[in-house]
Amino acid sequence: MLDLVIADALIVDGRGTAPFRGSLGVRGDRIVWIRGVGAARPESARTIDADGLVLAPGFIDVHNHSDLSAFVDPDMPSAIRQGVTTVVVGNCGTSPWPLAGWPDANRMASGDPNQEPPAWRGFGDYLDATQAMHPATNVAALVGHGAIRQEVMGLERRPPSLDELRAMRGLVAEAMAAGAFGLSTGLIYVPGIHSETDEIVALGEETARLGGIYASHIRGEGAHLFRAVDEAIAIGRRAGLPSHVSHLKCETSLVCGRAAEVLERLHGNDDVTADQYPYAAWNSSLASLLPPWAPVEDLARVLTEDRDHLCAAVEEGEADFQSSVDGVGWDRIVITGTSDERFRGLSVAAIARSLRVAPFDACIRLLIDDPSTGCIGHAMDEADVRAILADPDIFVASDGAAISPTGPAGRLPVHPREYGTFPRALAILRDEALMPLPMVVRTMTSLPADRFGLRDRGRLAEGSFADLVLFDADRVRDLATYEMPHRFPEGITCVVVNGTVAWAEGNGPIERAGRVLRHS
Ligand SMILES: [Zn+2]
Repeated sequence: MLDLVIADALIVDGRGTAPFRGSLGVRGDRIVWIRGVGAARPESARTIDADGLVLAPGFIDVHNHSDLSAFVDPDMPSAIRQGVTTVVVGNCGTSPWPLAGWPDANRMASGDPNQEPPAWRGFGDYLDATQAMHPATNVAALVGHGAIRQEVMGLERRPPSLDELRAMRGLVAEAMAAGAFGLSTGLIYVPGIHSETDEIVALGEETARLGGIYASHIRGEGAHLFRAVDEAIAIGRRAGLPSHVSHLKCETSLVCGRAAEVLERLHGNDDVTADQYPYAAWNSSLASLLPPWAPVEDLARVLTEDRDHLCAAVEEGEADFQSSVDGVGWDRIVITGTSDERFRGLSVAAIARSLRVAPFDACIRLLIDDPSTGCIGHAMDEADVRAILADPDIFVASDGAAISPTGPAGRLPVHPREYGTFPRALAILRDEALMPLPMVVRTMTSLPADRFGLRDRGRLAEGSFADLVLFDADRVRDLATYEMPHRFPEGITCVVVNGTVAWAEGNGPIERAGRVLRHS
């Protein structure tokens, strides 16, 4: 007796092989039976008729920021309703352990600003606390280099001493032993921006010892794109571990049109992979526009001492610092979350006009009022987005966090990728005939699962975990836009996590069956 049978679907198994019509049976949390159409079906407690639908492995989002979603929005609807069944968190150098880099983590995790839950004392405690919240998707975590560096060195802008480096290595080793899948960096953010290549190689060696991966928000994605890709490749090679470039893009008009060249650079090296979100705009902190010598904590002082120098660095860049404004323009940088509600959804240029100041000064004013101000930068070219998306070896990943329209982020003008990434990739690649469906599904399932070491996930095979998505291949598409980002996609009809039907179209609430995964 099976627990669940999905009957008469078009089975796309995640490996890129030809689809076939058939049925799939689940017992407990595993796929135990797959047969072609017409085979006698074992008895099952529940059967879902999937005639006309594609059955694929649940999508795996290896570049995700749902580190605290289990505590804030544990239903994780923006992820589940895209068909995502596993998220990899701890990206861009940021992770909720050690806590120094994310002092608000406790308060956010409690969901109650007045309540202070006990701090997690170790990486394993963070994983246990996440599991105790019963997240809707599986969660695998990287440990963030930025969080580790801040714990050991604060926000110091210098290389670590030998003792400090030893302490950082110890923290990486602790996280890896507790089940981290690897190490991430965010080399445009404080404090990652203060680190040199050798420091990351040393921590990469520690990660390599337990078979982890190195995932990087590289040091530049515009004027410095090629040297930053080369650094990521070199770190992997020197430290002896697989290297992964997060959210690959050609940002700003300075590298527009060079997607083919950067893809060639990646393919010319054995042990490097990359992911991408299929949008022509990034989403980040406004503080990421600042050079390393003007951290947001110190902005008021720098401004009085050296306003013109700072303005030139932000708008034009420097030898070791890439401007995110140069080749984009202030009218294409749009504010998302900030304390002053009037400015949400407006470009920095528009805010500057309303304040009757220069755009640079408007940007600084926003940062001084709210250092955590977020923004969206419409900085990429659609042709480059398409070229990267159409590469069958680049994974689809959201760079988003699992949120809900009724949760704390529900009123913010967030990036549409939070709700739309995977359906959008499916729709573009279908409508523009850029890649056959089995290969599209492969970039969302077996490729990322194998690369990040997510065992027994990412393919439809007997013995694998029953993480599944059913969708209408002709109808699936994203509906979230920059203007109306909190819209669920259409065409995703059923999502199964660890054998449990987590969500089905027209069926109301989300059943939370995700697990915290531990690397071993
Ligand atoms: Zn990033």
